[in-house]
Order: sequence, then structure tokens, then C-alpha cells
Amino acid sequence: MSEEKTWHQRALDLKPQSKIFIHGNYVDAVSGKTFEDIAPHDDRLIAHVASGDAADIDLAVQSSKKVFDAGSWREMNPRDKKAIMLRWASLMEKNKEELALLEAVDTGKPIGDALSVDIPNATRVISWYGEAIDKTYEEIAPAPRNALAMITREPLGVIGAVVPWNYPMMIASWKLAPAIAMGNSVVVKPAENSSLSTLRLAQLAIEAGLPPGVFNVVPGLGPQAGQALARHMDVAKIAFTGSPAVGRKMLGYAAESNMKQVALELGGKSAQIILNDCVDLKAAASAVAWAIYYNAGQTCSAGSRIIVEKGVKDELFAHLREFLSSFLVGSQFDPTTQMAGLVSKAQRDRVNSYLDLVGKDGEEIIFGGQKSQGSDLLIAPTLIDKVKATSRLAQEEIFGPVLVSIDAHNADEAIAIANGTDYSLAASIWTSNLAKAHTLARRLRAGTVWVNTFDMVDVITPVGGFGLSGSGRDKSLHALDTYSALKTTWIDLN
Ligand code: NAD
Repeated sequence: MSEEKTWHQRALDLKPQSKIFIHGNYVDAVSGKTFEDIAPHDDRLIAHVASGDAADIDLAVQSSKKVFDAGSWREMNPRDKKAIMLRWASLMEKNKEELALLEAVDTGKPIGDALSVDIPNATRVISWYGEAIDKTYEEIAPAPRNALAMITREPLGVIGAVVPWNYPMMIASWKLAPAIAMGNSVVVKPAENSSLSTLRLAQLAIEAGLPPGVFNVVPGLGPQAGQALARHMDVAKIAFTGSPAVGRKMLGYAAESNMKQVALELGGKSAQIILNDCVDLKAAASAVAWAIYYNAGQTCSAGSRIIVEKGVKDELFAHLREFLSSFLVGSQFDPTTQMAGLVSKAQRDRVNSYLDLVGKDGEEIIFGGQKSQGSDLLIAPTLIDKVKATSRLAQEEIFGPVLVSIDAHNADEAIAIANGTDYSLAASIWTSNLAKAHTLARRLRAGTVWVNTFDMVDVITPVGGFGLSGSGRDKSLHALDTYSALKTTWIDLN
């Protein structure tokens, strides 16, 4: 059997857990309701997933609160906590093929990406924060000698995490790992079409020794389970990744309930600026292509706009064409596939609607550009030239493999265009002038700036944006601040 057939067969043989996970057990929804989880690429029913609502969220939050109040995790010896998180990461490593398959069947992403990126990334995040537990120190303030002023970090309590479908386990891990490392309990509400890997992750946590209730998972519909979690009076913070429209609602839910803290990681329209002193346009083209076509463009930080300084466009486009001539687009179960179809028909239709705009204001397709229909979710890598910086194509998040090219006369104009959207998640600059690279990087309004590269990422650095891209920061030791509050204790030594 070919490798593709083997993976496909393994996907068909999966028997995923699809119930709600509360206090170490899989349970049905209180209402008994389920929703259908459909595999995007063959319309196959993968599972009936328990559809949590306010009653299930309440049970999950009460379980998490109980363990938090009891202190069995919060007050555990840091060394023992670390050992549990490291054991959890090694169980993820041991079960990586199953986790990758769950992730791939739910999202339609290439199995090769799930195996080499999503699962290893989430695993490293769990182990990295596990390691951090017994390496983070607290502070003594410079008080007079007759007093001791300690600044300690306190966990917040129950954290609610509402996450999207594009990197289900990876984005969940960016929130739950630092939150749990800080001693909080977490309730995750996965996206409707990608609950399975997170449900399995919770079971591995129990196997590793995490006390029941520290990590609960309630799948369900956004307006029901997601809203109930964000409105719950015993949730101390809601950590959200998703669209700006739902992010706005999260702020409202918090304001209308207990004024819980809200951390938002939202969309992007990241610019890739190619200046005419870039010496290696071939390398730039390869990075540009990966930045937009990886995960079929369904990445918050996707480099979806190129801003090209006068003089280098023809050569850049030629290199892009050459790159794509060997870029493997096809079946998600072929481990060599580099790009597969989109996550759902709804997402495909959204991308189609942007392709309908092409040509209305002088835009030109350089390659790709065909809409897909029926059950076909594959949109070919697309490049659209002559796009106006203020047009919808250049301003709105398409979330598909569609790259738009905008002309700039010089570096100043390129920066103005790059900064000219409501989003500001990430950006890149290609230049061989070191001073220019430093100066322009500071002028770019973006949470992450890459120079002569794109998508260099690791848990060691924070990720997040400004403006409509949100305000929270995931990853790095700074994420520990997101899930803790500083406490001051004065002791009179007289
Ligand atoms: P979405 O906002 O539709 O859904 C995200 C989550 O919110 C899902 O779990 C969904 O069930 C839930 N939800 C939906 N409506 C809700 C409501 N009324 N109340 C409470 N919860 C609700 O986003 P999506 O389509 O799943 O994901 C794509 C978006 O996520 C894109 O905009 C993308 O840029 C963004 N994203 C951002 C980052 C980042 O780190 N900044 C990372 C990945 C994705």
C-alpha cells in the first residue's frame, strides 16, 4: 500500500473520543445533544461530537474551581509539577501519529504538516513551560532594612480558552501550558470543526498525572459553549484566538459579567516588503511563497500582502513561478504534500468571494485565481498584481492561498502601505542594508518583524499584535504574566 493509502486507511480506522472531558472523564452533554464533525475533504462523518452549552460549561468550571481552591495543583512542589508536564509532553511524543491524524482529519491539513509542525510545536510548548516551572523566580523589592517587601506571582484561578480551527492543538497549548504552569486551572472550548486532538490531549494529561479538573475540554458551538465560558462568573480570564468579530464579543461578555480579564489574539494582513536592494530575490520568493501558501493561507500571520519596490517585481515574480513549479499541492494524506484544500466549504466560499473582486479595479491574476466549486476545497496558490493598497483585497483577511501584490516607489511608501491596515500582527522586510533593516523594522507596526526571512518562530519569543490583531501575547516567559497577577507582601521586621 502507498504511504498515502496507509495514512488514509489509518484515518478511516480512527475511533476518536468525542465527548466532553470534565474532571478526568469523558461525559455526554447534559442536554444529550451532539453536532456532526465532518471530514472536509471527503464529507465523511468523523464523529458525533458532544455539543456543550451553559450547563456543561458550568460543570467544567466548577470542576476546575474545585481543584484550584483545593490547591492540589497550585500548591504542588514545583519540581513535581514540572515532572508531570514533562511526562505529559513525552506522552504527546509517544502518541504523535494519532494526534497528527486527529488534527489532519478535522482540519484537512497535510498529514506531513501535522506530524512535523503542529504536534512537535505543541509538545515543545508543554515541555518548555514545564521546564520553566522550577526556573522562574519572584522578587524582593529594595525596601528599608527593617522591612521585607516581596513581589510574588499569583495564579488567577480558572482560565477559559476559546480557540480556532487552523492550528487547533498548537494554539490551545500556547494558552493552556503557561496557564497550567502558573498554577491555574483551564477550560478549553475548541473550534466546532477541530475538537478531537484537544479532547485526546486532555486524556494524556491525566495519564501524566495532572490532577483531574486542572484541564477540562468542552466542545460546542461558539455562541453557546464559547459564550457561556466567556460570561461565566467564576472564570478569571478568557484567552481567545480567532476573528476580530468574535474578539469584540468577548470584550462585551467580560464587561457584562464579572469584568474578567480578556487576552485577544486576532487576525492579520501581514506585509512582506521587498526592497530593491534585496540581493537574493530567489530566497525572498521562496519565503514569500511559504509565508502565504503554508496551511493554504489559513494562518493568522500569513504574509498575505507583498509590497514591492520599483525595479524588482518582474524578477521576483519569475522566482515565485519557479518556486511553485515544484510546490506539491494535493492529497492531505500524501506525506509529501505541501498544500492541501481548505478547512470547510464555508471557508472556500469566503475565498471565492474575494476572487470575484479581481479585475474590478485593474487587478491582474499572475497565477492561480480559479474558484473551486462543489465538494472541491482546493484553491490553487494565487498571486494577484496591481492591487490598490486601500482595496478590500489589500485590507481584509482572506484566510486562503491568495497573495496580493502592491507597488511602492520607495521604502518610505512601502512602510506607509504596510502600516496602512487595521491589522498589525506580523511583517517582513527584505533588504541587504543593515542600517535600513534596523530603522525600518522599528517603524513597522507589527507584533513580529522578520528581516530577510518569514515565519521564524519558537516558543522562546512572544506572539501577538496591535489594533485589530489583538492585544494579548502568547508564548515566551512573558505569557506567564498573562496568566498571573503580581502580589505585594510587606513584612515588618521590627
Ligand atoms: P472565529 O472567531 O469564528 O472562532 C474562533 C472560536 O470562537 C471558535 O472556537 C468558535 O467556536 C468561537 N466562537 C464563535 N462565535 C462565538 C461567540 N459568539 N461567542 C463565543 N465564542 C464564539 O474564528 P475562526 O474562523 O475559528 O478562526 C479564524 C480566525 O482566527 C482568523 O481571523 C484568524 O486570523 C484568527 N487567528 C488568529 C491567531 C493569532 O494568534 N492572532 C491565530 C490563529 C487564528
